[in-house]
Amino acid sequence: MWIKKKDKVIVLAGKDKGKRGEVLSAPKPDFFLVSKLNMVKKHQKTRGTEVGGIIQKEMGMHRSKLMLVCPQCEAPNRFKIQFLEDGSKTRVCLKCSARID
Ligand SMILES: [Zn+2]
Repeated sequence: MWIKKKDKVIVLAGKDKGKRGEVLSAPKPDFFLVSKLNMVKKHQKTRGTEVGGIIQKEMGMHRSKLMLVCPQCEAPNRFKIQFLEDGSKTRVCLKCSARID
């Protein structure tokens, strides 16, 4: 199962286990930043007009710690890959048959 930007995911392990979020980006293969999850505090120095201090930032999470959630019925990990007529792949929820592009 693959995960990509804007997918809804649930966290399977770690301090945010069980929480849900939206994938913001994939900074490297198999690592994903998920909105408001796996936050870390970072100290930032004041630079020009930017005010320094402690900021919170998402840290990447490995694919194995995430599970895709259906945006329609909210069921996690019940998907199959389906090939479309034009040869492209799509993910289909096994529970509600929603197509997740
Ligand atoms: Zn569904």
